[in-house]
Amino acid sequence: MAEPRKCDFLVRVRRRGSPVLELAASTPVQARRVVDRLVRRPEITDVCWMAHPALGAPVRLLGRYLADIPGIGDTRRVTHVFLLVPGEAVRAGDAVTARCGEPIRVDQMDIVGPGTGMPCFRCAARVPDAAERGRP
Ligand SMILES: [Zn+2]
Repeated sequence: MAEPRKCDFLVRVRRRGSPVLELAASTPVQARRVVDRLVRRPEITDVCWMAHPALGAPVRLLGRYLADIPGIGDTRRVTHVFLLVPGEAVRAGDAVTARCGEPIRVDQMDIVGPGTGMPCFRCAARVPDAAERGRP
């Protein structure tokens, strides 16, 4: 398992009649913000973000539900651990699954730094598997 580093994220943009454009992003928040902005533009046919495909192991992401999601009370706003597989595309309305099994749509997720909010104990209790330990 690895902590995010500078330019560990990539935004991939397809525009009608143009080659695929790849933009580096240093944080998942920045990558998602670019996707949210581009997805509304009519000339964009596909836009997604991902952990950089060149990374050797999944990147750890911490996230919880945004405060204003209907039906999600404070008790469900724990901070989960997500593992982003390098090169696996995340689009605006996609759900990603936490280590504990809780799926959260990325557009309903507050991506947070370490130590923010109440940690999800089910995520914390999961032992990392071999793929997560591959990167120093
Ligand atoms: Zn969890």
